[in-house]
Amino acid sequence: MTITRFLRALLLGALLLAAPVHSQAQTAAPAGPFAGLVAQKTARLTVYATPGHEARARQMAELCTRAIGYLEQPALLGFAPRVTLLVLGPADWKKYARIQAYGMPHTVGDTILVVAAEDNAMWRGSVPPAKQLSPAQARQVQQVYRTADGSVSMMKFFDLTAVHELGHAFYRQARLGRPRYWLEELFANMLLHTFVATQEPALLPALELFPQVVVDGTDLKTLGYTSLADFEQQYESMPSTKPLNYGWYQCRLHRAAARIYGQQGATALPALWRALRQNTATYDDAQLAAFLQTRVGAEVARVQTGW
Ligand SMILES: [Zn+2]
Repeated sequence: MTITRFLRALLLGALLLAAPVHSQAQTAAPAGPFAGLVAQKTARLTVYATPGHEARARQMAELCTRAIGYLEQPALLGFAPRVTLLVLGPADWKKYARIQAYGMPHTVGDTILVVAAEDNAMWRGSVPPAKQLSPAQARQVQQVYRTADGSVSMMKFFDLTAVHELGHAFYRQARLGRPRYWLEELFANMLLHTFVATQEPALLPALELFPQVVVDGTDLKTLGYTSLADFEQQYESMPSTKPLNYGWYQCRLHRAAARIYGQQGATALPALWRALRQNTATYDDAQLAAFLQTRVGAEVARVQTGW
């Protein structure tokens, strides 16, 4: 099967979203950590934007603020991370982003979230070609991802993945245990799905359609790795060596998060949070499945046992 431009771009994106990045984005700048950017201080986070994109920065800050405000409730996570949000045009992206591809939301260290200020080639190139979709899916893609100017861009999906990145800030700042890499990625997708389903339900189609289309449209024979054991072994290198393959795993984990929410609603996320908080235990596969089944629920355990 020919690998399409859309799959390459999207799966590369999905992979990069999740890549653990711990280097410093800041350059030594005499005027502060992000010279040339406009600072916006909000009650919840510190925001720096490329001049001219202040309104877009407020919009993304409001999305993150709503997510933090929802998740910090005692019945959810009872925790609020420290976050600095960078909303960057292409020139500032080159200076301050950690990932080269303009448009890919990502985390730098445990506190800095980087998002694009403008629609871009990656988001527009991520539109799946109609021939790869069922007629119904092709219509849905047109409806869900159409922009104000009538073109189609995956902007809505990639904007939401900023909340997936926020999930890593929660996870790492609260020092959750990580018996498996896939569990942190599943947590970030569960956090995103729970927030959207409960607080922004009108955005659910934008969150769900893209991963569904990728999962449906990927020929497994084109992937080198398909098991969770492969994911654990290749987690550090796969984002750069096999980005399409890594993105497929992320889309599978988005679909898993949707099934978990369908079974357990908003209770699964705080259950997983409590189970992993301050938890440094190690588990073999059978022990991990039993632990997840007991502490979180059957559907989370099934991500492992039924992968
Ligand atoms: Zn991630």
